[in-house]
Amino acid sequence: MNSKALIDKLEREKNLSGDEFLFLLKNREDEYIFQKAQTTSKKYFGNKIFIRGLIEFTNYCKNDCYYCGIKKSNLNAQRYRLTDKQIFSCCKIGYDLGFRTFVLQGGEDAGFSDERLIKIISHIKNKYPDCAITLSIGEKSFDTYKNFFDAGANRYLLRHETANESHYQKLHPQNLSLDNRKKCLYNLKEIGYQVGCGFMVGSPFQTLENIVEDLQFIKKFSPHMIGIGPFISHKDTKFSSFSNGSFAMTLFLIAIIRLMLPNSLIPATTALGTINNFGREKGILAGANVLMPNLSPASVRKKYSLYDNKICTGEETAQCLNCLKSRINKIGYEIVVDRGDFKNE
Ligand code: SAH
Repeated sequence: MNSKALIDKLEREKNLSGDEFLFLLKNREDEYIFQKAQTTSKKYFGNKIFIRGLIEFTNYCKNDCYYCGIKKSNLNAQRYRLTDKQIFSCCKIGYDLGFRTFVLQGGEDAGFSDERLIKIISHIKNKYPDCAITLSIGEKSFDTYKNFFDAGANRYLLRHETANESHYQKLHPQNLSLDNRKKCLYNLKEIGYQVGCGFMVGSPFQTLENIVEDLQFIKKFSPHMIGIGPFISHKDTKFSSFSNGSFAMTLFLIAIIRLMLPNSLIPATTALGTINNFGREKGILAGANVLMPNLSPASVRKKYSLYDNKICTGEETAQCLNCLKSRINKIGYEIVVDRGDFKNE
């Protein structure tokens, strides 16, 4: 086997066998795959980059995912909840800056009942009918997902975290299961959401074989969006002394996923920008086509601390966006005012 030939095959057939993926991960040809991934992304999206305004509206969480800084048992986390008014004000600021997608992300917080969230979603939908609403608030019942969808939510981000059962158990407490996570993903798709799954690269105990399983799950599930970023340790978790995920491997995986699912929406994540100064630019040059700047009020940004040293927690949104725009222009891409929906080929 030869890596370049495998990359050609991946580009042609949009899939590889498990053994072939494993070989490729062990024998990376970075520049070769980045070039192909970039060409593919340009074929579908030109030099356009979609932006999503991320509103981190609560860091309360009932779960205890071992890797996450806002896990329930982290008593050092300073908890906050945005008021409905604050959330709407983030949307207003975002809309005026050209955002046409709002992403409501948070911990699993009982302080936001289904009724309250339905009101928030309907309000945003009524006020900004030309915008997409994305939710990223964890595992809920089929009926709850359906009610949110009927209220106006269009998309849902729920990373599967790892497609290997025993690895999943090493990252999560017993009450959480990969089965339920996957069931949620299938429910979301059935309801009609544009759905995003994904995983952390270099999470504790992850093997290359696990990553192959992630790729195979992603291919099979065929999501509209795929969020992957490096694992970054958080000082208040039991994984505090684990190394961060590999930057190069994350880029390589972005490129593989671009070739596997050519028209999918793939963000260059904040975590990628955190472990490397040019992380987001390099993510785009490896095939990513989405950025998710922070729309949360500057006063709470540091508190939404999933991992240490998160970037862009100091500035106002307008500053962040200007900075990103000029960074993106420098590499020959442009940020557009667009909902950036998934389109079938
Ligand atoms: N509560 C929601 C949103 C989770 S936060 C949910 O359950 O989906 C969004 C993502 O951040 C998670 O899915 C996880 O993959 C990522 N994340 C959490 N802790 C992290 C860490 N220490 N390093 C890198 N990414 C992390």
